Amino acid sequence: MADDENQPSPQPSPLKRERVRRKSQITNHKHTLRESLSRFDIREKESLSKHTSFQIGGPVDFWIEPRSHEELAELLRISREYGQPLYLIGGGNNMLIEDEELRGIAVHLANPAFRNVEVLEGNRIRAGAGTDLSQLLTWTAEKGLSGFEFLAGVPGTIGGAIWMNAGRGILKDSRQSSVVSRQKTEIQHHHIGEVVESVTLMQESGKIKTLAKNEIEFGYRHTKLPSGIILETILQLTPGDPDQIRERVRENLKTKIKTQDLYFPSAGCVFKNPSNSKKSSGQLIEETGLKGVRVAQAQISERHANFIINRSNASAQDVLTLVRLAQHKVKEEYGIQLELELKVIRSSRRAHGGLVQ
Ligand SMILES: Cc1cc2nc3c(=O)[nH]c(=O)nc-3n(C[C@H](O)[C@H](O)[C@H](O)COP(=O)(O)OP(=O)(O)OC[C@H]3O[C@@H](n4cnc5c(N)ncnc54)[C@H](O)[C@@H]3O)c2cc1C
Repeated sequence: MADDENQPSPQPSPLKRERVRRKSQITNHKHTLRESLSRFDIREKESLSKHTSFQIGGPVDFWIEPRSHEELAELLRISREYGQPLYLIGGGNNMLIEDEELRGIAVHLANPAFRNVEVLEGNRIRAGAGTDLSQLLTWTAEKGLSGFEFLAGVPGTIGGAIWMNAGRGILKDSRQSSVVSRQKTEIQHHHIGEVVESVTLMQESGKIKTLAKNEIEFGYRHTKLPSGIILETILQLTPGDPDQIRERVRENLKTKIKTQDLYFPSAGCVFKNPSNSKKSSGQLIEETGLKGVRVAQAQISERHANFIINRSNASAQDVLTLVRLAQHKVKEEYGIQLELELKVIRSSRRAHGGLVQ
């Protein structure tokens, strides 16, 4: 018999025992969480790069497309009960999601239960939050309803557009008239809030609340709403000739294609335009000489300096390095702090779970 067979096996240290206990607790916890989610249509370790316009983002524990309002309320409850963060992903066109695994549940409102649209009396429409914005524009044009053609070419869902108060500067007159005078170069800024009559959202408790326009604050690329998930909106539009509406949509799309970098994956403008400068963020970044600068496969666009593009397989870290570089240079040269328009999604470590916004 070998000597060491008679030796008592060494006791694991208290630290190691605690680590093993915690690991098995987490495994059991995950197991029961998985059981609670089993009645949903779930995808585990779904890569979020498939769901963002940047084509960047690590895998999330659970990807779920709820089939009803009840399922959505149940997910909010489960996320709190199990201390799992819940992230709402619209079209993913204004998001930079970190490369590492995202702990928790990503919810996407692609099911028809969240995409219904209907015309209401008085030139109004009701649209589910998951409705694609460009499809909604085509549909309202067909119905002879006008009011948000300025959003032509802005990718995403109507829920995302409201959360962000999506908007655009367009040539004056091109919103109301199909004939855009090339002499008039004055830019008018419009945002979705202008046509919103009400927004209905599900609060974290699962309670549904409708807010009228006068209860909502529409800011620059930001809407002040109570924490919750937008379920639907009512838009107040105006009657118009379908051909003229379509013409305005085409005009607005054309200028977007001309001025923005749509050849590579991106999330559109990275920074808000500063309120304390006559220059746009794009101009400021361009003047610091950063146009075209690359970090691995991420690049400050040569066409539009407020765009960061993913040339192929860029990481969130690469993009963030460029973000910090642009902020640093603009601050150093102009004393202006560029503020992100882009939403950066990081794995939430908070223990109580719930909606991360
Ligand atoms: C090429 C390109 C051009 C762009 N041009 C413009 C432009 O001209 N003007 C402009 O304003 N934006 C522009 N964007 C940015 C983007 O299209 C808008 O911000 C758009 O409104 C985002 O919608 P989304 O559904 O993709 O939202 P996401 O990117 O999925 O989400 C954005 C934020 O909204 C939240 N959110 C989404 N849906 C809901 C919901 N139902 N309830 C609660 N919160 C929700 C998300 O949690 C997140 O915080 C551009 C983007 C790209 C890629």
